[in-house]
Amino acid sequence: MTKVGGSIVAYTDRKWESGVLLGTGDVSIHFRLIHYDTLSMLRNSLLWASTNPFLAERLPRARFVRRATKRFMPGEEFRDVIKEAERLRAQGIASTTTLLGENNNSLKEADAVLGHYLTDLRLIDELGLDMEVSVKPTQLGLDFGIKEARSRLLELAEATESIVWLDMEASEYVDRTIDIFLSVKEQRSNVGLCVQSYLKRTPDDVARIASCDCSIRIVKGAYNEPESVAFSNKKDVDRAFEDLTATLLRGRAQGGVGRVVLGTHDPSMIGAAKHIASDLGLTEDQYEFAMLFGIKRREQLRLASDGHKVRVLISYGSAWFPWYMRRLAERPANLWFVAKQLLP
Ligand SMILES: Cc1cc2nc3c(=O)[nH]c(=O)nc-3n(C[C@H](O)[C@H](O)[C@H](O)COP(=O)(O)OP(=O)(O)OC[C@H]3O[C@@H](n4cnc5c(N)ncnc54)[C@H](O)[C@@H]3O)c2cc1C
Repeated sequence: MTKVGGSIVAYTDRKWESGVLLGTGDVSIHFRLIHYDTLSMLRNSLLWASTNPFLAERLPRARFVRRATKRFMPGEEFRDVIKEAERLRAQGIASTTTLLGENNNSLKEADAVLGHYLTDLRLIDELGLDMEVSVKPTQLGLDFGIKEARSRLLELAEATESIVWLDMEASEYVDRTIDIFLSVKEQRSNVGLCVQSYLKRTPDDVARIASCDCSIRIVKGAYNEPESVAFSNKKDVDRAFEDLTATLLRGRAQGGVGRVVLGTHDPSMIGAAKHIASDLGLTEDQYEFAMLFGIKRREQLRLASDGHKVRVLISYGSAWFPWYMRRLAERPANLWFVAKQLLP
């Protein structure tokens, strides 16, 4: 149990409990217990909302919701991304961009997404920005077949020398995403894959793809997954993140050329990565940190000024509702920020 200012926070295996210290001595300590299960329910409700078509249709029209999203995305247009990327570049921070949206309804939509990214890549090149793109497999047509998504990913990779990152979506897509990634990798080396530490299968997946000396971004994972496939306990997710970090950094220390990107805002994960890297004799430029736009800005700057490679993922587009709900679920305290937008 740890004491933090006037409150007490206790971590147990199953519960997260917090209480307010009202006096001194054991008898006057009153606890207001917030069970891990309550936070977990809130998180699950937000993740449920992220897949609800009724809410997706109505909530984005509310002005207070639109105002609140500004914190996580500069705007709906790619020109909004460029403005922020240039500002970050001046601070020594590179960027990645993603067009929001998932699960297209038709291949025509997948073609429109492809067209968007091809235009973005041309503009990035013209402006000489250090910006990469990160794409969701279902945006490229994965729901219509592996071949459909594969051909569009290949077209994107052929249009640039930079890495084209493949996001990892819900667990049902993992096998197909890895298949597409490995298949395109045989033709173009400039593709990278995101893996999620909350999935119990990920260490086996990483072992399977390790032989291709791939560029990999490790994240904790943002979807609502059943306990049969994913760890539900933060401690387990964090431990898995550190283990994956150690595995991939070891590969780097043994001469691997694939990039190792740690997509996290968690100070413990960042600290652990630095520690592991230094034990392995890796220098700051042999691994990277990636964070989301608007989150832990000070930490982004601090890492960059300490000589670390930092990349910020800037999202844009009109289909932001499910993505935004996942950001709220990551930190339910963000709901206060949304509520504040209701004030005049
Ligand atoms: C570059 C990048 C790419 C990603 N790509 C994918 C992907 O392809 N697939 C996927 O499933 N997930 C992806 N994610 C999301 C990821 O899975 C996590 O949900 C997210 O990064 C939060 O986890 P965390 O490591 O920051 O740790 P957490 O333990 O969730 O958070 C650590 C601390 O960071 C801060 N923080 C974290 N999230 C927020 C937030 N939303 N708002 C405010 N503060 C916050 C808080 O201070 C929190 O205490 C990506 C994340 C990043 C940074």
